[in-house]
Amino acid sequence: MSDTALEVAAAVRAGERKAREVVEEHLGAIETGDGALHAFNHVMADEALAAADKVDAEVASGDVPGTLAGVPVVLKDNLCTRGVPTTCSSRILEGWRPPYTATVVERVVAAGGIPIGKTNLDEFAMGSSTENSAFGATRNPHDPARVPGGSSGGSAAAVAVGFAPLGLGSDTGGSVRQPASLCGVVGVKPTYGVVSRYGLIAFASSLDQIGPFARTVDDAALLLEVIAGNDPMDSTSIASPAPQLRGVLDDGVDGLRIGLVEELTDAEGVQPEVAAAVDDAARGLEKAGATVERISVPSASYGISAYYLIAPAEASSNLARYDGVRYGLRVDGEDAATMNARTRDAGFGPEVKRRIMLGTYALSAGYYDAYYGQAQRVRTLIIRDFNRAYDTFDALISPTSPTTAFELGAKTADPLAMYLSDVCTVPSNLAGHAAMSVPFGKAEDGLPIGVQVLAPALGEPVMFRVANVIEHAAPETAVPA
Ligand code: GLN
Repeated sequence: MSDTALEVAAAVRAGERKAREVVEEHLGAIETGDGALHAFNHVMADEALAAADKVDAEVASGDVPGTLAGVPVVLKDNLCTRGVPTTCSSRILEGWRPPYTATVVERVVAAGGIPIGKTNLDEFAMGSSTENSAFGATRNPHDPARVPGGSSGGSAAAVAVGFAPLGLGSDTGGSVRQPASLCGVVGVKPTYGVVSRYGLIAFASSLDQIGPFARTVDDAALLLEVIAGNDPMDSTSIASPAPQLRGVLDDGVDGLRIGLVEELTDAEGVQPEVAAAVDDAARGLEKAGATVERISVPSASYGISAYYLIAPAEASSNLARYDGVRYGLRVDGEDAATMNARTRDAGFGPEVKRRIMLGTYALSAGYYDAYYGQAQRVRTLIIRDFNRAYDTFDALISPTSPTTAFELGAKTADPLAMYLSDVCTVPSNLAGHAAMSVPFGKAEDGLPIGVQVLAPALGEPVMFRVANVIEHAAPETAVPA
């Protein structure tokens, strides 16, 4: 199933294809293919067919449905869907059905899009491989012995293999961009505040953003236009309209100044083929009229250290609400405190427990300033250094992930090695800036490589122009048929 969202929506709007047929085709592909991949926690077959019939009825009655008419969209299973199980791939939420739907999902549906299933993730979005799911790992469609990346690995794998043209994920430290890179698709982390997080189950609230997955830059722009824009239900939502992206996509990069971030491209552990792809992308941009220069952003290398204090600190507070009373699982005990402790012990997996302990420690009296306070100061330095870079450059480039997809199990015993997968992606979350991953061919072993495009806050239009040129300069990355 390789049609783009734009192709599907155009055919459905013109009455040339029925949304029901489109959905049936994709459900068929999921039925045959997902046993081996495990991209889904839950397939919404009945809901999707009902939604498709609604779109078809609209077309039949002469109405023009929205820009996503009949397009199947997969949802990371930390996005609330009213009445449909939403688990965060955690035992602690098993059986919970949210009483409301996330704003992004409402907007997809209002545009004629068809939510087709809830996808697997690392428990509570903590991880870089989707192996931390309580329901088993997702596999990389390019090589089933390898991870799809994480934490939005299910959405990335589903879009790469054609279970849906579009997907949604959340990106707190790289969880849309890194799996996009490892699965060979486009993944976007919008500027903090551009997309409403109402109905996204919180991990680290000062970093979380929802973003699109697609197989083309154009499709990613289409989905971002639909989900972006102010929402009074999220107090961090920016009071400006959604950015217009598709209108500027073809404006090219002639005259733009682009910086190649040295700290992220020359970092220890960056696979030579990945660094070479970034250089090739730079050459493609130059050919299209941009100037590309290497630039140093010194504090970028400290992103991981700051992130692994700030994100667990916020998580330890956000996850306090899973107390055995309000949601999902309850393991009984003789008093409330015992019930609470037993529920949390049985309901959370090892990585979530590790983060809660790290975060609680970092916030504890006597250590607060040394850990959390220090990390916040580093965060300020990162914001300052990137803003300085953007005084000179319109956009920046780097690898998305230091390496191509690693084997299942390769990093599960070594949390630190896993954390280093995010070295290139966390700085944009700490700064609140925009960033996205664009597929750029494959390494010799046949695994996809992603190039990251970074832009300042609200720099989405220029970021997408750069991404579009890189996409056209890139060698083929699709999953072989
Ligand atoms: N891999 C990072 C982590 O484990 C980022 C996760 C995310 O963006 N949700 O925290």
